[in-house]
Amino acid sequence: MSFNAAALANAATRALRAYDPGHDLPALRKRFGSALAELGSNENPLGPSPRALAAIQAALPEVHRYPDPKGAALKAALATWLGVDSTQITLGNGSHELLMLIAQCFAGADTSVAYSQFGFAVFSIATAAVGAHAICVPALPRDHATMPLGHDLDAMASAICADTRIVYLANPNNPTGTWFDDVALENFLARVPATTLVVIDEAYHEYIVTTGLSSALRLLLRYPNVIVTRTFSKAYAFAGLRIGYAVSAPEVAAVLERLRESFNVNGLALAAAEAALGDQAHVAKGRDWNQREREWFVDRLRTRGLHVLPSQTNFVLIDFGRDAAPIERALFERGVIARPMGGYGLPECLRISIGTRVENERLLDALP
Ligand code: PMP
Repeated sequence: MSFNAAALANAATRALRAYDPGHDLPALRKRFGSALAELGSNENPLGPSPRALAAIQAALPEVHRYPDPKGAALKAALATWLGVDSTQITLGNGSHELLMLIAQCFAGADTSVAYSQFGFAVFSIATAAVGAHAICVPALPRDHATMPLGHDLDAMASAICADTRIVYLANPNNPTGTWFDDVALENFLARVPATTLVVIDEAYHEYIVTTGLSSALRLLLRYPNVIVTRTFSKAYAFAGLRIGYAVSAPEVAAVLERLRESFNVNGLALAAAEAALGDQAHVAKGRDWNQREREWFVDRLRTRGLHVLPSQTNFVLIDFGRDAAPIERALFERGVIARPMGGYGLPECLRISIGTRVENERLLDALP
């Protein structure tokens, strides 16, 4: 029997390629041991709150049980912390899942979805997965005075069509690290029709230290078409647990609930996130540390004449102005993992996470 599974995939999936996870990290950990500097995935090297780790221990004896399908305790804690109602919150197995779920629920083959060139990769994947028409809006130019390669919100507003069901924005954005301010966002939202949902991905929100860059949560009452997504993977340092959340109008959350897997967030993650949320001192410490370390790192890179984009995140994008593949290889050979950007159409750039001082120094030493 000749069997061709790829040909049997639905049209949307036929057009997709599997996610490239980059290097085989488990194998590299064996090869390099503690000499491996993992600066490719924007993880938080400080680790999570000890209170959250204790909460995981306390939840362990219950792993034979299904988790609370509603995540009620965590939602209540989030609602209090964020000043919203529990009915506005949707929990996800990472915010990646929520970005996909939003497209699954609201977009389809008869709609379009807009996002920025160099916008977070999951935006285009979510769009393609539901067979929607992708509107990829050119980013701000490389020589833009303040936000090179950032989202061009004016152009994005102009690109919205009658059938545009979703606009994805990331603020700050990965992989560029760039952002748009409160005024730009309000001007943008005023131009978006009520038939278009605006998803504002705030995965790096907790790292922001600049002024004039507030959470879009403040706009939810005025704009019921806004959805804010956040994650516990970055500043809360739980990338390995897989938990994130969306905040929206209750009506939007009710639609997402129709397709959400009932046990999408595991019990250890629910317990850990609730405890981590209660330890804001830990988050603040991490934010301060990240700012200091990033400034130190960027200073060193710029001293070498490298072009580093502005960042309000726990990573920086370096534009080498030439093919960065040999640089990435040279780093790799010395046990330093950076993220190549060819897949984003930025082959002359590398994205580098802020690591410990030892890791950052190792990168600087290994940089050819
Ligand atoms: N949004 C952005 C901008 C990200 O960089 C990431 C992770 N790289 C995510 C969402 C997804 O994170 P997670 O699924 O771990 O919550």
